[in-house]
Amino acid sequence: MRIVLLGPPGAGKGTFAEQASKTLGLPHISTGDLFRAAIKNETDLGKKVKDILAQGLLVPDDLTIGLVRQRLAEPDAQAGWILDGFPRTIPQAEALQEISPVEMVINLEVDDALILQRLTGRRICRNCGRIYHIVSMPPKKDGVCDVCGGELYTRPDDQESAIKTRLAAYREQTEPLVAWYDEKKLLVPLRGSGTPESVYSAFEKILQNRG
Ligand SMILES: [Zn+2]
Repeated sequence: MRIVLLGPPGAGKGTFAEQASKTLGLPHISTGDLFRAAIKNETDLGKKVKDILAQGLLVPDDLTIGLVRQRLAEPDAQAGWILDGFPRTIPQAEALQEISPVEMVINLEVDDALILQRLTGRRICRNCGRIYHIVSMPPKKDGVCDVCGGELYTRPDDQESAIKTRLAAYREQTEPLVAWYDEKKLLVPLRGSGTPESVYSAFEKILQNRG
């Protein structure tokens, strides 16, 4: 099964992809991870990507497509994959259809209000980096790390205004892609508002119904 995973920041894509990867026995391929690995291994693509990111520029489609093409040619990807972070643009989606056609595009849908609640509730220990959540994983004592007693703070990225900006950018970039896949009858909406377990069991029902 060749699956593309779409969804805004805070939708729970990472957790979903990990579980799907384990259950279906398919590699979870994230372009973020591919970029980091290519840079670390100093491949030709990695060197180019590093220069571009160092200048604060967006990685152009042809580089990203090259990296994904290489990864999808590896032996563990021959029975299928779960792609996360790719495609982001229609040219990338068109290239992917040529490399290895997608069978299912899971669009993990979560309301903005819930994303805001999830992300603005995140607290990080200034000292050891441990992550808490004021609702789902609160520290024993407000504002203090259970492990090291360090001060908990909200990352600038997780401030409400920053999250709204990230969400708007995501929607603007992804909406054409969602429409493109919908037209090809590949899009499968999946509510991401429940617990990770309930989201995953809804996905398993979708798989069963497809036979
Ligand atoms: Zn700590």
